Amino acid sequence: MTSTAAVTDTRARALRDLRISLTDRCNFRCTYCMPRHLFGSEHLFLPRAELLDFDEIERLSRLAAGLGVTKLRLTGGEPLLRRDLDVLVARLAAIEGIEDICLTTNGSLLTEQRARELRAAGINRVTLSLDAIDDELFKSINDVGYPASKVLAAVDNARAAGLGPVKVNCVLQRGVNEHQILPMAEHFRHTGVVLRFIEFMDVGTSNGWRMEQVVTAREIVDTIRAVHPITRAAANTPGETANRWHYDDGAGEIGIIASVSQPFCGGCTRARLSAIGELYTCLFGVHGRDIRGPMRAGATDAELTDLLAGIWRARDDRYSEIRGEQTASRRGKDADGRVEMSYIGG
Ligand code: SAM
Ligand code: SF4
Ligand code: SF4
Repeated sequence: MTSTAAVTDTRARALRDLRISLTDRCNFRCTYCMPRHLFGSEHLFLPRAELLDFDEIERLSRLAAGLGVTKLRLTGGEPLLRRDLDVLVARLAAIEGIEDICLTTNGSLLTEQRARELRAAGINRVTLSLDAIDDELFKSINDVGYPASKVLAAVDNARAAGLGPVKVNCVLQRGVNEHQILPMAEHFRHTGVVLRFIEFMDVGTSNGWRMEQVVTAREIVDTIRAVHPITRAAANTPGETANRWHYDDGAGEIGIIASVSQPFCGGCTRARLSAIGELYTCLFGVHGRDIRGPMRAGATDAELTDLLAGIWRARDDRYSEIRGEQTASRRGKDADGRVEMSYIGG
């Protein structure tokens, strides 16, 4: 049977967002994401022919829209490394049902002209990543010597192009950049930019994640509140990942993405498409489902729709909640509190 209506998973969660990784390459080597010892000159990145091409990305986005997806997020790797990105964006923006197209970038290639082209093509919003306002610290985190001041220039380019409200993501790691909470908050107060602090997550296997490295939402709020009173605000949309807070003095808004200390799996409506066309139904998925294979073997739209719908209907993921329950039940027994991969399903 062909499915063209909205689908829900085993926990009654609809499929609403599709995050599309456009490339596995990046011009940064953030120590917690693509550490140089694992992503050095020896590392084999995907050959171009392996990546989904624009026709394939557009086709899968259109079929996903038929199943209820309204929002696309273009990410990576570094998505701006993908040539002619504005051409792809224009094609995605023309898909019926797609209401919102966002981009997550490190900002290094977001010139004013590129920002304007992307805006004209149909990007609504941009999120830039910046883990420290201090140039030297940021250079050491991205490990390519890229200064924070240049990312701030990219933030300005995005704003000038009307790609707003611009968001800035800051991943916090204890012992690395938690002392940047206040300087970051103070830099973006009164600017209209929404700064979002993100708890460091145990994605992948390369970042050597430990629970004690996580700076929790509670600590972030307390740190800011001690200097600038803030009040919790209601969510903009159901299933929103960030907790929203307003400065009491009207200086703007900040967000906190508490994926570790306050998991939000219950409202998780996101699927992820890897650069080679595997569909993941959870950020912590170990195996994606190959969509590119059947697509390149000649599957019809109806067959691909059934494949996507079937994967979503079978979805039971709630990794962060399970890790949270496990951590709570172990409290006092294990200072680490880290859930074992063997428990979570490898
Ligand atoms: N290169 C682009 C960028 O940095 O914005 C897009 C891809 S990057 C993987 C997307 C976001 O994931 C960035 O904001 C990055 O800081 C965040 N990220 C990467 N590893 C993370 C982790 N272990 N925990 C939390 N966020 C992480
Ligand atoms: Fe590249 Fe983004 Fe990962 Fe940093 S966080 S290494 S910029 S993909
Ligand atoms: Fe969604 Fe998986 Fe993250 Fe839970 S752990 S919020 S299911 S991506």
